[in-house]
Amino acid sequence: MKKDMTITYTVENALYVNVTNRCTNACDFCIRKNGDGAYGSDSLWLVREPTEEEILDSVFSRDLSEFCEIVFCGYGEPSIRLDTVISVAKKIKEKSDLPVRINTNGHSSLYHGYNTAPLYEGAFDCVSISLNTPSPERYDEICHPVKDGAHAAMLDFAMEVKKYVPTVMLSVVKDFLTADELAECHEIADSLGVYLKVRDYIS
Ligand code: SF4
Repeated sequence: MKKDMTITYTVENALYVNVTNRCTNACDFCIRKNGDGAYGSDSLWLVREPTEEEILDSVFSRDLSEFCEIVFCGYGEPSIRLDTVISVAKKIKEKSDLPVRINTNGHSSLYHGYNTAPLYEGAFDCVSISLNTPSPERYDEICHPVKDGAHAAMLDFAMEVKKYVPTVMLSVVKDFLTADELAECHEIADSLGVYLKVRDYIS
């Protein structure tokens, strides 16, 4: 692992992979607003984006038998580097039986300008998508997406990627929702036939 940046870090029994600090949202609840790391990690601000080789070196420098899962996550939106994360995920799966997840804001197809969902097949066992709010209006207020139509595009992506990966889930931060909004989020998840993960705000 490069000493000048943290590419992989541990969260409980999972190995997290940090490939970019770029993001297509600027969420009010983003963990990056409150510090430099996550869950006790070193700083996750990257001095530059790691190459595919550096990411693989960092992953395989670990004893993967110690982990139950590999997760592509922040500090940023991993799908911005879609070709790299797909390639890295597939190479991990060639050498390991660990399940691989990507935590994403679901803007993959919106950002890249085409239907990216088929690319996720064979790379990820789970795609966890931040639903955040039931409505586009609240989404724009809380998440400040750089592109219009982000909420609808996120839901379209969730529907589409279900065709290609075994598990898709949605997530919300409950502290930023009213009880009615949380109930609406459950209805959306039910309508899509996916699990809704409700998590606490990380201050
Ligand atoms: S999508 Fe994730 S990384 Fe991006 S601003 Fe929101 S919480 Fe932060």
